[in-house]
Amino acid sequence: PSFGELGVREELVDACTKLGWKAPTPIQVEALPLALQGRDLIGLAQTGSGKTAAFALPILQALFQQCHPFFACVLSPTRELAIQISEQFEALGSQIGVRSVAIVGGVSMVDQAVALGKNPHIVVATPGRLLDHLTNTKGFSLRNVKYLVLDEADKILHNDFEKEVDEILKVVPRERKTFLFSATMTNKVAKLQRACLRNPTKVEV
Ligand code: AMP
Repeated sequence: PSFGELGVREELVDACTKLGWKAPTPIQVEALPLALQGRDLIGLAQTGSGKTAAFALPILQALFQQCHPFFACVLSPTRELAIQISEQFEALGSQIGVRSVAIVGGVSMVDQAVALGKNPHIVVATPGRLLDHLTNTKGFSLRNVKYLVLDEADKILHNDFEKEVDEILKVVPRERKTFLFSATMTNKVAKLQRACLRNPTKVEV
């Protein structure tokens, strides 16, 4: 199937075409129709599978309906991945002027607070630094988040971000959609999944 046949709207199909993507990858074929219908998803997929667009396109499509700051929060285990994800959101969402920031360690808190003050639609973050901002940056909150993504959840837990993730889960609204992606399904990931997903469907490639 094509992106359009999976339910992706024209503006976003155009963005995929501009990136040189001719057809959806297997994880995208599985995930997109379900995510676009509003289901919570557990995706078992490796880096390189196209998993980022599998969660980014449905979030961007929802942004067309209802566009406001801090619409989605994506948790990533590493800086590099967070930056890549944030860039992909902006590339795919350029037609509607989607703004995304990466909030990662090793960069000035002040500069990041300024970036958050500009009210981006998407925040892609490593859990420790996100929690620092939730605690210390005045006016910043996740109370309007409609989508929460835990990307590479096995690595997030492996990097000992368990406590931070628990704290973040306490401050995102209950009424939201959640996508959890992981390369492996460990006991810890299963526990996290039970804590934060609602009636999820599993997609696997
Ligand atoms: P990811 O697994 O999300 O890290 O994506 C791996 C790479 O595949 C990234 O460089 C994406 O830009 C690219 N990609 C994602 N979806 C597609 C697609 N449908 N066709 C070709 N390349 C893609």
